[in-house]
Amino acid sequence: MSAHITVAKTAGFCFGVKRALEAAYSLAESGGGCTLGRLIHNRHVTEELAERGVVAVNSADEATGTVIIRSHGVGREVYGELERRGIPYIDATCPFVAKIHKIVAEESAKGANVLIAGDPEHPEVKGIIGHCSGESRVVNNVGDIENLLNFENGFVQSSLIFVAQTTAQLSKWIEYKKIIQKHCTKLKIFDTICSATTHRQTEAERLASHSTLMVVVGDPHSSNTAKLVSICSRYCRTFFTEDALSLPVQEIKQALSVASGDHYIGITAGASTPDGIIKEVHRIMSEITRNDEMDIDFMAEVDKTFKRVYIGNRVKAVVVSVNNTEAVVDIGTKHSGYIPADELTATPGLLPKDVVKVGDEIDCVVTSINDAEGVVYLSKKRVDAAAGLEKLSDAMNSNATISGVVTQVIKGGVIVTCEGTRVFVPASHTGITRGKRTDTPETPEELQKKLEPLLKKEVSLKIIEVAESRGRVVGSIRNAQKEESDALKSKFWSEVEVGKKYVGEVKSLESYGVFVDLGGVDGMVHSSELTWNRIKHPREVVSVGDKLEVYVKSFDPEKKRVSLGAKDPNDNPWTKFLAEFAVGDVVKAQVVSTTPFGAFAQIIPGVDGLIHISQISLDRVTNVSQYLTIGQLVEARITEIDQEKSRVSLSIKELLEEEAANAEPEETIDISEVEGAVEAAEAAEAAEAAESEE
Ligand code: SF4
Repeated sequence: MSAHITVAKTAGFCFGVKRALEAAYSLAESGGGCTLGRLIHNRHVTEELAERGVVAVNSADEATGTVIIRSHGVGREVYGELERRGIPYIDATCPFVAKIHKIVAEESAKGANVLIAGDPEHPEVKGIIGHCSGESRVVNNVGDIENLLNFENGFVQSSLIFVAQTTAQLSKWIEYKKIIQKHCTKLKIFDTICSATTHRQTEAERLASHSTLMVVVGDPHSSNTAKLVSICSRYCRTFFTEDALSLPVQEIKQALSVASGDHYIGITAGASTPDGIIKEVHRIMSEITRNDEMDIDFMAEVDKTFKRVYIGNRVKAVVVSVNNTEAVVDIGTKHSGYIPADELTATPGLLPKDVVKVGDEIDCVVTSINDAEGVVYLSKKRVDAAAGLEKLSDAMNSNATISGVVTQVIKGGVIVTCEGTRVFVPASHTGITRGKRTDTPETPEELQKKLEPLLKKEVSLKIIEVAESRGRVVGSIRNAQKEESDALKSKFWSEVEVGKKYVGEVKSLESYGVFVDLGGVDGMVHSSELTWNRIKHPREVVSVGDKLEVYVKSFDPEKKRVSLGAKDPNDNPWTKFLAEFAVGDVVKAQVVSTTPFGAFAQIIPGVDGLIHISQISLDRVTNVSQYLTIGQLVEARITEIDQEKSRVSLSIKELLEEEAANAEPEETIDISEVEGAVEAAEAAEAAEAAESEE
């Protein structure tokens, strides 16, 4: 003996219900609203919608936000009420129902009475009545028709139109029509049972006629489900259930145990039954027919693994495989779950394997279901974004700094991905240097170029706006930088003291010194404090960006000024000089500069001595350059050392004088002898002249 289970092809959501649900889920995405009455006759779906912010209300009085008019439709007075109150609405009236509204409105406007076959308490029927201009009656059984014929002859003998509720039972409708046609002469009949209902009932009837038992799945309040139960019951034992958990397992088992031969089980469902519920009922029925030993434990197990899946469901998924385009997951149902790469993460350019690995348990949301193929598509990104939005909102409220990666440069700013959520940072909040106000503003292309270096960088930022309804988050890198800089400044001023050493970064060079970033605060090193050597410009010893070891010489917290020194006392050339040289020593020095009053000559690096103009030569010097040139090596004597003023005086002249003094004495001539000789020569010359005259 074997069991064969057939699920009716027409079971489950009809076109009109799907349409209304899509409208509701879209309303939920855009912030929620309400439906006039339960959107569909299914508790699971309406509860889920309520959780997502789309609640059922009884009238326009209770409406909150946008209203959805469900597939059953409403009377004209309801549209009028919504419009009078200015309440926005989405009209999800099923086109099959709207067609009846049009028929009754047009015909009754021409004077026809309207007869409706249906449940007078059903909202669809009430809505139809609301479109009639004149008299209308509802018949729900043959007795109602007989009463009408017997007691309201005037109504039926006038011009009459006869319509059916879209979900009326086909066999009954045919029966009603036959009776009415016999008694009414000015009659127009409109076959308004919708094709979805007709096909569903016809298929259910055919299936039931070949089955050992039928299971009809649906809501206890659903009229079309009740009609399916009624149809199927005519042919075989029929069980009604709201979902898999409500299946009367023992009764079904018993019904099967008394049936002879192979078991043929049919399953159908009302128009408001989600496919997931039908699939679960099918699964459990398969288990029942396989398990003769059905017991409490089995149902407990079923209960444990039972999961309904709807669009928008948040589910736990276990990753079973990962490829380059998607992650395949198990969500604990019979469905195969897929998460496409672009639904795994908000960070562009990542492959699925960069985000998840086999065995990971992750939270996802169902984005679409293909029951025919048993496939569910999910998104991890949306769950991350929702959780991220909450975290970002908390971060904004607590003014916390968070970090993220710049993933995109867009018009007017950048996108930073934080906590799986896209955060927009306007250009003015990115911390990049913009043109001055007086400058011509950058073109969009120029701005883009300035922002591009931020791409792929990890940044810290503050959240300055979260618009949850629009999923928009705005951040500021600049604010985070300012907070960090303020904290560093405050720490610096609380700890700074004279002599304290820092390693700073050279920020800029000026002719008189350099500015050094000490971590939030800039200090200035004068050129004379930069090196022990004599320099003309700081660029001779440092460049922007260099790390420089400095110490605090003085500071002024009021004026926010810090004066720094960079010369290492251990390298002080004066210490070295004093250890090696003393007054009186003769040194070899190199002329490094000349002035009108003398020349400076380097004795050792960092110590120059002054050769005063009066000490350059034995001669009287009026122009230093005529005697000394830069670069010239000279020998001089240290004549004075002024330790306090770090000055050394040199003299070349002293050495020259000494030299002259120490030179070999020349042969001396007695001047009186010379004078005597001259006188004698002159006398001889005079005598000679006198003799010649004589
Ligand atoms: Fe429309 Fe028919 Fe579905 Fe009713 S049962 S919503 S009339 S398709």
